[in-house]
Amino acid sequence: MAFNIVLTGMVLQATPVGDYDKRIVILTKERGLITAFAKGARRSGNQMLAAANPFAFGQFEVYQGKNSYTAVKADISNYFRDMANDFDKACYGYYFLEMAEYYGQENADESERLLLLYQTCRVLEQEVMPRDLIRAIYEWKTLAINGEYPNIYECRVCGKKEKLHFFSDRLQGCVCSDCQPKAGGFGVSDSALYALQYVISSSIQKLYSFKLTDDVQREFIELVITYFHKYENHEFKSLDFLG
Ligand SMILES: [Zn+2]
Repeated sequence: MAFNIVLTGMVLQATPVGDYDKRIVILTKERGLITAFAKGARRSGNQMLAAANPFAFGQFEVYQGKNSYTAVKADISNYFRDMANDFDKACYGYYFLEMAEYYGQENADESERLLLLYQTCRVLEQEVMPRDLIRAIYEWKTLAINGEYPNIYECRVCGKKEKLHFFSDRLQGCVCSDCQPKAGGFGVSDSALYALQYVISSSIQKLYSFKLTDDVQREFIELVITYFHKYENHEFKSLDFLG
């Protein structure tokens, strides 16, 4: 007999099914990415009416059938309702959700990815940082969680840890001043390099707590966004709105 389990997670996507139901994709701490059927979620008074929407974060009570989950009720701690009232903010938010769905895996430990997504949406909601910077930090940290980030701690050619004044997309990491004339790469300032390293090594709780000067911020954003989209060929639909 099936029994209910409680999962902590965030709704990434909700699609109407039939007249009254929804199919939702949730990134959960315990089971990774799951798809759940929310019966009657479009009827007023239904237990899942408010919860079966993108950004809803909290505890979801589900039961596991043969091929899919069914969500029966939820205890939502944050709906991120702000996203619905600010189009530009929502565009960033949907991009973060889409990326979490693209990289999230079923039956895997996705607690870090979920925490990153949640923290990022909070920072976006509170407007404590420019949105482009939030986006770049989220993209860079996503690479770290995926375990496929560039080597920014030593020269990709000779392995030295000093004079790391250049970065190469092609070599996927830093190049030192001695190797740069042959290996190529564009200049990267010490402050931008430090920011790149900080985002990779910092805990998610402290991720959004640093400040950059305008110049360094521009450099950081440009390097990350260029690298991320060169490395990742996938076309994220929600990026069309970000321009
Ligand atoms: Zn070198």
